[in-house]
Amino acid sequence: MADKKRKYEDFSRKNEGNQSNLTGKRISNLPSKGVKGKKEGPKVNNGVFTYAGSLTVSQLADQLQISPADIIKYLFMQGKMVTINASLDDELIGEVCLEYGYDFKKEKIVEAENFEELEIEDDEKDLKERPPVVTIMGHVDHGKTTLIDTIRNSNIAAGEVGAITQAIGAYQKEYNGKKITFIDTPGHEAFTAMRSRGASVTDIVVLVVAADDGVMPQTREAIDHAKAANVQMIVAVNKIDVPGANPQHVKDQLMALNIIPEEYGGDTIFCEISAKKNIGIDNLLENILLKSEMLELKANPKRYALGTVLEAKLDRGEGPKATLLVQNGTLKSSDYVVVGTIYGKVRRMTNEYKKTLKVAPPSTPVSIIGLSDVPSAGDSFMAFPTEKEAKDIASKRAQAKNEREMRSSSGMSLDDLYNRIHEGEVQNINVIIKADVAGSAEAVAESLRKLKVDGVNINIIRSSAGAITESDILLASASNAIIYGFNVRPNANVRAKADEEKVEIRTHRIIYALIEEIEAAMKGLLKPTLVESVSGQAEVRQIWKVSKVGTIAGCMVTSGTLTRGQKCRILRDGIIVYEGEIQSMKHGKEDAKETRTNFECGLTITNFNDIHEGDLIEGYEMVEKAGK
Ligand code: GDP
Repeated sequence: MADKKRKYEDFSRKNEGNQSNLTGKRISNLPSKGVKGKKEGPKVNNGVFTYAGSLTVSQLADQLQISPADIIKYLFMQGKMVTINASLDDELIGEVCLEYGYDFKKEKIVEAENFEELEIEDDEKDLKERPPVVTIMGHVDHGKTTLIDTIRNSNIAAGEVGAITQAIGAYQKEYNGKKITFIDTPGHEAFTAMRSRGASVTDIVVLVVAADDGVMPQTREAIDHAKAANVQMIVAVNKIDVPGANPQHVKDQLMALNIIPEEYGGDTIFCEISAKKNIGIDNLLENILLKSEMLELKANPKRYALGTVLEAKLDRGEGPKATLLVQNGTLKSSDYVVVGTIYGKVRRMTNEYKKTLKVAPPSTPVSIIGLSDVPSAGDSFMAFPTEKEAKDIASKRAQAKNEREMRSSSGMSLDDLYNRIHEGEVQNINVIIKADVAGSAEAVAESLRKLKVDGVNINIIRSSAGAITESDILLASASNAIIYGFNVRPNANVRAKADEEKVEIRTHRIIYALIEEIEAAMKGLLKPTLVESVSGQAEVRQIWKVSKVGTIAGCMVTSGTLTRGQKCRILRDGIIVYEGEIQSMKHGKEDAKETRTNFECGLTITNFNDIHEGDLIEGYEMVEKAGK
């Protein structure tokens, strides 16, 4: 991919003299050469015509060294009228190339305005070790917050004792002369929210597991997230001070999940700690540094800063205020930054002790003011030498974002999958499987693993028992996955979240049908299918048993509309317990045909009397969806 890898000079502060002099005098008008990016013109090489963006007829003619009139004539013969200045889309460019015997290839140009996509190639000699960025994850109440506080408060540097701190979402800890950056919003929500926006800030996840409680659902989720993000993990077995704590049990449980401690020949470091009693914390910090040394984390402090917004808010006195994590380069107060689609001059830069900083080298979290608006957590930022550049780039990004949003999708639908497989873009299908019981989740996973279609792999990133939750949606969105529900259904909130994140949820009750569907998609053979459309949901508030009639469910319709005679299913804790039809419907004593949101009704279900209070009744129709 031409131009994706950038030379280090492009964004370096090379004209500013020695880097050890970062706080010194700076030359403000750096050449803008690199920042604009080198745009490669179209060209023919070995019979392959390479271009980027769209081309006009005359540009294409020029590049292919044919006459524009020939192109116009050829397209006219194909029934397409174009003028010499008409801009040709990919399809037309391709047609013309083929007519003249060339293969063609479209290249993606990454310019400074696409800074998320820059793969920066720094010169080896400029790379310096940088502190690791650590996120703490684990099940609720296992001690994440306590650990964060203990680490923060233990041996605080002398000058900072008693200093007023500000919560900026991250802090740096110095240990044995080395720094570690901790993200201080624990848990995987923030982590996944970042990742679903394409940001990855974490180098190491510390997985906290309480020794008196063991592996719990969120422990497993945290592991899934760390694995899906390809992030190194250190296990902190916490609460070893609690009588009856059983660290060995935690090890056994994690080994069953394929997380093998070093002492058993694996590669995961386990540290036994008590966050509350401050036991084993030094050892944990040492191991974090050890791990980070093994990862050889490096960055180039000489370039203009690039990184991610950790959090942002509107401060009443100071205006938009954002915490930035510098991931490469050095941010200076007085730089101009572009964040997401906004820009501004760094007016003041502070650390978590409210100390004003002039420079922030790689892995430093800083709070800045001076932006024109409040950015979003997870946005990327990049620093520029001049206001003009920052402003230009921000406006180009705003435009690109608009275009992207028009055709955006963060999750992946089966249709997308089909299209992308067809275009050779997808080799991996990420799948999340949720099922009513662990046995069927495993059975579905097993059958999917056995599917063999050339050139396409199925990657199961989570497979577990239980209802489809928001956490599943976030993981799917972050990993471009499709969720397969087997005998489980999302509730209305989860469905809304899925719509928002554009994540596709496919639900089935027969393994065979599920496998057949995904196999068809893998082969690019999507047939016309019946898809269901949920018309509404009602909550069962009360039950009456009436002889001869059976069980009547007193319901409140919570979304959409339910209609007498329509297909429905009964859900208990997100799991399908029955599928049938709405047999009768009453408003008070009157027969009714339908009930809308926020109205009550009494229902009976064909051949089903085992309705419980709290069950959900979901009405749906099957509609034909055109296939490919
Ligand atoms: P989080 O939900 O994971 O952030 O958990 P917290 O840090 O809020 O801790 C939950 C509870 O466990 C609190 O009451 C803590 O005081 C307690 N706790 C945390 N770490 C330890 C520990 O090492 N030993 C003991 N005995 N209690 C702990």
